Amino acid sequence: MLDIFKYCYQCGKSLSYKNIDNNNIPYCDKCERFFYSDPKLVVVVLVEHNSKLVLIKRSFEPAMGKWCFPSGYVNKGEKVEKAAIREVKEETGLDIKINQFIGLYSSDNNPVIIAAFSAKSIGGKLYSGYETDAVDLIEIDSLSEFPFEFDEKIYNDYLNIIRLNN
Ligand SMILES: [Zn+2]
Repeated sequence: MLDIFKYCYQCGKSLSYKNIDNNNIPYCDKCERFFYSDPKLVVVVLVEHNSKLVLIKRSFEPAMGKWCFPSGYVNKGEKVEKAAIREVKEETGLDIKINQFIGLYSSDNNPVIIAAFSAKSIGGKLYSGYETDAVDLIEIDSLSEFPFEFDEKIYNDYLNIIRLNN
């Protein structure tokens, strides 16, 4: 699951694993070559809109049907803040201004690294109509369900930043 490589792209042979520094690295016995995979960077954005916090309902697994923060993968060659702005626009319809970097979140054996930002809406229009139940606004300090590993930590760090700034 952690590794995206199953077959050698040079010879097509199934990869085996070699243990290097306590990590199992995919390895092609025939070509005698290792296949290293990079972590994936995900942006999570806590967006304030009309003094409330924007949540989106996930329409696919994992955590389908759960409410969570707008988020998405950073593309190769994409400035991280721009990825945050792009993902929020795609998922909520809102244009945002990044306020603050909340933090970086990672854990052992998890290929995903999260960069979390706070932001304020500056334009656009919150989705309604055909996606009417896909976006919601909640009181900023009222969130109690956290479908993903780092959500609660990110949210608490965000609330602490808000308290410090006020
Ligand atoms: Zn090979």
